[in-house]
Amino acid sequence: MKALTFQGEGDVKIREVPKPSVAASNDALIKVTLGAVCGSDLHILHGHTPMNPGTILGHEFVGVVEEVGPEVKRFKPGDRVVSSFFTSCGHCTLCRKGWFNQCVEKGTFGHGEYFGGLGGGQADYVVVPNADHTMEGIPDGIRDDQAIFVGDILSTGFFGAERAEIKPGDVVAIVGAGPVGLMATMCAQLFGPAKVFVIDMVDARLEIAQELGGIPINAKEVHPVGAIESATGGIGADSSIECVGLISAIDTAIHCVRGGGTISVVGVPSAVQADFPYLRMWLKSLTFRAGWCNVQAYMRPLLELIAAGRLRPEKIISHRMKLEQAEEAYRMFDAREATKIVLTP
Ligand code: NAD
Ligand code: ZN
Repeated sequence: MKALTFQGEGDVKIREVPKPSVAASNDALIKVTLGAVCGSDLHILHGHTPMNPGTILGHEFVGVVEEVGPEVKRFKPGDRVVSSFFTSCGHCTLCRKGWFNQCVEKGTFGHGEYFGGLGGGQADYVVVPNADHTMEGIPDGIRDDQAIFVGDILSTGFFGAERAEIKPGDVVAIVGAGPVGLMATMCAQLFGPAKVFVIDMVDARLEIAQELGGIPINAKEVHPVGAIESATGGIGADSSIECVGLISAIDTAIHCVRGGGTISVVGVPSAVQADFPYLRMWLKSLTFRAGWCNVQAYMRPLLELIAAGRLRPEKIISHRMKLEQAEEAYRMFDAREATKIVLTP
């Protein structure tokens, strides 16, 4: 089968690789019908993620079940499914507490040996372990390009918004208008804020943020913290959602909220450690939350919101390409020539 593989920093290549097969009793073999390129793939491309050469890439995918192991109960061949970007067992202590992203058996698709040695979704086929808990069925009437993002960036946008504790009438600041920031812009509005400011430097992305109900702030033109302060009578936003993954963006997210406000970070931090403004956090009684999304908790309700027409995640897709063009897709996404690219095998 064809698959996009990691070769080394800055180098991804389409290769012929063996088709994977059901090995464990709770595995499902999925024929991929749509994959996507994520900001986390750019961390891999830039060599920021520990990766072994030859790894099959891709952690955002939907497809059709081709075969299941004997213990898979919820799915059968022919079912349309969306997968979370990571696996969870559903029965360990942390899964039973609802923290599926802390599952002791967790593995991440398309991230190589260091993250569980799973396959990837930028390929013709992928095996999903712990299939009953890792996947959701796609309801009739929801297309692949609407369902795909519940497995990663839409759930992440919702997770970021929920943890920002947005109340009706609030002012929210979203730092970053990449795919994750745009999903956060959409999801924040489910909580009833009066204003959602969206900060970025890429005009095309800020335009989409505006179409989605956000108020764009171009950080190339104005200082974003100053702009939010002057728009809020010098007070600041009630909460911020960081969707970039750079320490400078986390700083913006911290500095643009008012006393008593909440900062919700979902970008993967670019540094292992960095300065943290403890005194400011204490003086201003701020709440700081960070982490990767607990996807399995959100897939079903988000599919319901899509079915009800209250979320339209497919609106951020700017380019539809073939899997064979994945190398070019990475280049375009990295150069910010594309907002979100989906790939058809
Ligand atoms: P992306 O790289 O396409 O988007 C980042 C955006 O931030 C870009 O538009 C860029 O112009 C903008 N930006 C850069 N510096 C900025 C700054 N200082 N202030 C404001 N904007 C700035 O990536 P993406 O796909 O949107 O993903 C965003 C982050 O979320 C990545 O770090 C990704 O790895 C992470 N992520 C986390 C989870 C999770 O579970 N927490 C899930 C998916 C992705
Ligand atoms: Zn991702």
